[in-house]
Amino acid sequence: MRLTDLNSGREIGANCLLAEFGGLRIAFDCGLHPKLEGRKALPRLDLVQAPLDGVILTHCHLDHLGSLPLLLRAHPSARVFASAATTLFARRLLNNSVRVMMRQREETGLADYPLYLEKDVERVENALSAAPLATPRVIGRGGEELAFSFHLAGHVAGAVGCLVEHRRRRHFFTGDVHFQPQRTVAGADFPRKPVDTLVMECTRGATTTVSSGGRAAEERRLLRSINEVIDRGGSCLLPAFAFGRMQEILLFLEEAAAEGELADVPVFCSGLGLDLCDYLHEASRKTRQVKFDRAVLRDLGVTPLSRKFVQPGRNMPDQGIYVLSSGMLVEKTPSWRVAANMLDHEENAVLFVGYCDPDTPGGELIGMSPGDKFKFRGLDHEATLRAQVERFHLSGHADREELVEFARDLAPKDVVLTHGDPPARAWMKEALAAALPGARVHDPEPGVPIDL
Ligand SMILES: [Zn+2]
Ligand SMILES: [Zn+2]
Repeated sequence: MRLTDLNSGREIGANCLLAEFGGLRIAFDCGLHPKLEGRKALPRLDLVQAPLDGVILTHCHLDHLGSLPLLLRAHPSARVFASAATTLFARRLLNNSVRVMMRQREETGLADYPLYLEKDVERVENALSAAPLATPRVIGRGGEELAFSFHLAGHVAGAVGCLVEHRRRRHFFTGDVHFQPQRTVAGADFPRKPVDTLVMECTRGATTTVSSGGRAAEERRLLRSINEVIDRGGSCLLPAFAFGRMQEILLFLEEAAAEGELADVPVFCSGLGLDLCDYLHEASRKTRQVKFDRAVLRDLGVTPLSRKFVQPGRNMPDQGIYVLSSGMLVEKTPSWRVAANMLDHEENAVLFVGYCDPDTPGGELIGMSPGDKFKFRGLDHEATLRAQVERFHLSGHADREELVEFARDLAPKDVVLTHGDPPARAWMKEALAAALPGARVHDPEPGVPIDL
């Protein structure tokens, strides 16, 4: 296999790998960089010159999906293989991305936006093909062929890892993976038989693992914080990705409410997240890859967030639990706008429940001290931080020790690191070299092919 990382840097960024098997050319994912603007957010699509024989889409987070319409514009005959659940979500998330880019065009004046239109999203929808789990599918051309199979990756609804078998060699791609069960998805169910190559994510490579039982303890801590804030008359803002994390939080709140352990205040959600509740509900009816029932919205009495924004600096008129996207308080999103009403008031709290990049407004807020100023650009408001800010470790990515253990089980000759920042890659490289003596561990230079 010849593998080229098309991400523009050694980071999480815009995930896209080009894998060549003999003459067959397969792209794994095609994402959009969450922090870069315009065409800078794209992977190196210019390096995909000859036609593609197929695209594997591991899951629907935008750092894996967000540039796929452009890849298909250049390679209109390529089919996109994904899990059945993923095929149900892709169009909705991409159309949302078109709307966001239209708004960015107005706000930034950047002529690159929108990078694609709904007709490009339609091309993706038509190219999508649901592949069953743990069942080999064959891709071939000119006498060359490979077989691939999908295996549930935990992480988020519909996420899969992919095993490729070609000329008696086996290559496993983890995609984004979480081994422990969550409420909307079971834990990863990866085959543990030896492979030749393991291409592995390493998001949490630089994060110390919390002790076992850590997740349950974090959830209890979160519940305690929510109840304390409500008791003192404040509101909680829980910034959460609209796809996956928001539904996880709603199920968590519903469980606590059913046990009589959650303070009785309204729960507010923003539009895209509520809409995706319907999609997850559908997926859990049609496949066994997702567990979600939209009855949770009724049981919790979830109210859609009003479209009428309250003047920045003024507290929200209704005391409640606000579960709003984006998870990193990205500017102009509902969570960012409501933060402009929360931060000045000491009774409130912002509780982060997922990964927050340090270079985002959410990351900035986590690093601040009480009394610091937080500027809401475009809202003409500078908040003085009086609200409580806390973060909880409820990640959808595997702990680093679990990744090393998984690698040991697969005993690969080559390990290729992806989806991690430089410190995460450095830790993984060292730990894998110790765990797999004799294996080669690659931290590929973006755009430079490696032969495996
Ligand atoms: Zn992901
Ligand atoms: Zn990712």
